Amino acid sequence: MNDVADCLFCKIIKREIPASIVYEDDRVLAFNDINPQAPTHMLIVPKQHIASLNDLQPHDDGIVGELVRRAAAIARDRGISGAGFRTVFNTNREAGQTVFHIHLHLLGGRAMEWPPV
Ligand code: AMP
Ligand code: ZN
Repeated sequence: MNDVADCLFCKIIKREIPASIVYEDDRVLAFNDINPQAPTHMLIVPKQHIASLNDLQPHDDGIVGELVRRAAAIARDRGISGAGFRTVFNTNREAGQTVFHIHLHLLGGRAMEWPPV
């Protein structure tokens, strides 16, 4: 579902659907994943609708940088920076993307395996 009008994360951004919000500024929202895969599992999203990494334009470089820096800042605030954390963008079917509004997964609080299955 790529339509902005039907976008779950746009609805969270507009407060039409509740979420456990952990950070917000003019351009970025972060909230806890509803189905956490680690003790810390948040999603960091741009407030502007971008369906997937395949849709990024050069003028989006700034917001992508903000998402990554925000993930690192939240990890630091949660005290998991030193032990380590994982950040993931899933893109399209084979990567398991289910919500087509880009989101950076921030996972931490437990040891992770590599490669991911
Ligand atoms: P992805 O599979 O990479 O597209 O990730 C989508 C993520 O969104 C999954 O980890 C879901 O658990 C999460 N998710 C789906 N609906 C919600 C919701 N209403 N609030 C918070 N997280 C959600
Ligand atoms: Zn959206």
